[in-house]
Amino acid sequence: MEESMKINKNNNNKFDRLKDSILDYLDVKDSIKTGIEDYDRIKFQKRRILEMLNATDKDWDDYIWQLKSRFTNAAHIAPVIPLDGKETGDIARVAAKYRFAISPYYLSLIEPGNPACPIKKQSIPSVEEMSEEGELDPMDEKGSSIEDIITRRYPDRLIIKVTNICGMFCRFCQRRRMIGEFDTNCSVEKLKKAVDYVSSNNEIRDVLITGGDAFLLPDSQIQWLLSELRKIKHVEIIRFGTRTPVTIPQRITPNLVKILKKYHPVFVNTHFNSPREITPESKKACEMLADAGIPLGNQMVLLNGVNNDKHIVRKLNQSLLTLRVKPYYIFHPKTVKGTKHFWVNIQEGLEIMESLRGNTSGLAIPSYIVNGPKGLGKTPILPNYLLYIGKGKAVFRNWQGETFEIPN
Ligand SMILES: *Cc1c(COP(=O)(O)O)cnc(C)c1O
Repeated sequence: MEESMKINKNNNNKFDRLKDSILDYLDVKDSIKTGIEDYDRIKFQKRRILEMLNATDKDWDDYIWQLKSRFTNAAHIAPVIPLDGKETGDIARVAAKYRFAISPYYLSLIEPGNPACPIKKQSIPSVEEMSEEGELDPMDEKGSSIEDIITRRYPDRLIIKVTNICGMFCRFCQRRRMIGEFDTNCSVEKLKKAVDYVSSNNEIRDVLITGGDAFLLPDSQIQWLLSELRKIKHVEIIRFGTRTPVTIPQRITPNLVKILKKYHPVFVNTHFNSPREITPESKKACEMLADAGIPLGNQMVLLNGVNNDKHIVRKLNQSLLTLRVKPYYIFHPKTVKGTKHFWVNIQEGLEIMESLRGNTSGLAIPSYIVNGPKGLGKTPILPNYLLYIGKGKAVFRNWQGETFEIPN
């Protein structure tokens, strides 16, 4: 009796300590709002944009309308997000160098009057992009490309870049060099050559279709590509890389979903960077894909001023799980020219990884990846938990900093 009371008391202390260790997050979590939690303000912006474009709710829900109504000119967005004269001039100057376009939907997520808005930082050109530091193609994708549109860097898988079209041109884009002035899907001949390449290299078991934004190909071409790839015996899985659930969630239509699920196993990786991107629309898009049996992953890019904060990342990743999206990667920002203001240091990324382990579900913990320059590939980094490894034993520290050893 006495013994069991002692155990209970110890346990109570332990649970109290666990409770204490989450207080810092509980204190801030409600102030880091998802787009669902701040939807009234987003809806207000949506109404203003619709009025300005003289359009209807039905237009808004149509992804073709979203795509063709993308804003490309600062003067046109000034009525919805106030910009001063200097900002308008800067945007025009930067946009002449790096293409600018934002869907009405993504524009509605910007919090007007908040210069630090993470949505604005990702989408509206900034004069800081004129910095000459960095390279246009730090990953040397050109150096590992086949038929222009294939990049092959690993033995068993490759990527096919099928379009340069995007719902919004991210200001930190790693492929800014290919975005060009005009929207172009790649030609049917090139797609055929890419399919032929996969077909004649039987070690390729995983094909990743990306862009631009893979889901901005028309349904008919997605259907064609999937049916061709599925004819190839050695192709086990097909993946899509798309930011449409975030930038034009209207793109996830019943017809698209119907096509995708005919060719399982099909995976989709998307790209949420901020809790504010989680809205009723993006939630619905993810749920439609998940309901079709498509495993969903998220590839976040760690960006200064957007998400280089442990609590923002925890809120983002936990919210993504409620949409059935598994955080897959956190990418350390690449040294792409014109993106220097987004760069962070490795310590910041490690601190975020450290803050996740133990404090949240393992499901909410992605791998943190640095891309080796010149095509050296994805390289994982972790806080160091292994303190010593030798003959006979290995010594670790756990997520709370307590050390332990196991026989080795
Ligand atoms: C990122 C990437 C892949 C996919 O990598 P996974 O780690 O399997 O997700 C494949 N090929 C290239 C060229 C890539 O850049």
